Amino acid sequence: MKLQIDNRTRYLNDYYFQTMCLLYFPGEKFKADDSGENYAYFYLDETDAETKSFKSIVTLVSGDKRAEGTFNGTYEPTIPMNDEFYAMNAVGKAFLQAGRELFGFELPWGYITGLRPVKRAKYYLDRGHTPEEVINLFTTDYEVSEEKSTLSVETALIQQKMLADVKENDCGLYVSIPFCPTRCDYCSFVSYSNAKLFKLIPDYLEKLMRDIRATGEMIKTLGMNVRSIYIGGGTPSILDPVQINRLLSCISESVEINPSTEYTFEGGRPDTITRDKLLAVKANGVGRISINPQTTSDLVLENIGRKHTAKQFFGAASLALSMGFDSVNADLIAGLPGDTRDSFSKSLEDVIGLGFSNITVHTLSIKNAANIRFIGDGFYDPQGDFARNSVNYARARLNKAGYNPYYLYRQKNTVGNAENTGYTLPGKENLYNVLMMEEHSTVFACGAGSITKFVSPSREDILRHAYPKYPFEYLSEDKGIGLEEALEFFNSKG
Ligand code: SF4
Repeated sequence: MKLQIDNRTRYLNDYYFQTMCLLYFPGEKFKADDSGENYAYFYLDETDAETKSFKSIVTLVSGDKRAEGTFNGTYEPTIPMNDEFYAMNAVGKAFLQAGRELFGFELPWGYITGLRPVKRAKYYLDRGHTPEEVINLFTTDYEVSEEKSTLSVETALIQQKMLADVKENDCGLYVSIPFCPTRCDYCSFVSYSNAKLFKLIPDYLEKLMRDIRATGEMIKTLGMNVRSIYIGGGTPSILDPVQINRLLSCISESVEINPSTEYTFEGGRPDTITRDKLLAVKANGVGRISINPQTTSDLVLENIGRKHTAKQFFGAASLALSMGFDSVNADLIAGLPGDTRDSFSKSLEDVIGLGFSNITVHTLSIKNAANIRFIGDGFYDPQGDFARNSVNYARARLNKAGYNPYYLYRQKNTVGNAENTGYTLPGKENLYNVLMMEEHSTVFACGAGSITKFVSPSREDILRHAYPKYPFEYLSEDKGIGLEEALEFFNSKG
């Protein structure tokens, strides 16, 4: 796609315009000299700094169709905003006008891109604005649908309660196991999934445990308190019971765990779950696990190259649910190839019926590293009625069954521009998901592909420390744990 940007302001970078384009042109690559059939032109100028007046022109072309949107003047936001907002709003409103005319449908999240809707909603609620005012901000200023605005505010209100007792020195710990038994076709996560690479697991665990010990020392040095631990992947339950036991023992020797510490082990793939592994997890104090079918249709599982059956999921779920964990989560995905209204609603009924306390409804999002595009056109579908209807249906059905939304995030190139939402029965919320998604507290991370985010007390600043993406690089590079940068960061940010 050819993208031309005539940006005479200091507020928005090229990446911002690119991600905005992806809302109507998902999956596009941007090249200045591309002669492909899609084209976008952005003009943005601050015409009067004092009155925050902006002029914006957006031209969008798809094949032989062309549309233009304009904005010119000073916008009056429903809530006082910073200067950057006025630039975003001018370009966003012109972009939506052009997109609507060109494609004939609305975007459920308006022009919001690059900002976390629930974090935004909570920011204003925390500063005394009423839920109605924040919903009005979303619908009027950002042109978000009524439904998504209400979802954002409802989620933010639940987070306000969850986070009320999280102290300034509370933090999370994430441990990454980037190995999977096989690779699912839609996955873009960096995870090793063949027998040759599984030989790295013992060395990987040794290095990971060294980093966990060092991170435990850093947490003590910084005077922090671990509120939540999350072992994720990949597929952590690819480890055998002895490896699980060693890893979890290392964690409990490195950081202080007490009965109130939230502790989650993401089982993930049902085909890796066994009684012995769950016993090892439970014996080490883990209270929460996740077993993820994505769908309970064998046909859809086959379509997405996820090499387990619905029967394996039901077996693993019954086992886990019978073992007395505090909370068990199941992930589903809306918009999967071959899924139908009936099969999606059956998947939902299955996980509700089994009694999962957390149900996370994702929307299919296609990234470059995924294999799924070979199946055909239609995955980069910005309208994506089926995916949109599925997430809306899930929200209504889960609400009726007593589940509430407690965290939410959006990704680029998601079918139907829909979102991912974590639902929970009352009192079963997973704090880690909120600390991490909303960047509310520092989350230390260990392992390949993981990123520690040091969050300043004001939550305005974040320092990232990333480990190498691939397990092989992780083993060969000593990246350290970032203690010196962290000390400097916290000293400078109070
Ligand atoms: S199990 Fe999860 S992380 Fe592993 S390949 Fe499948 S989708 Fe990706």
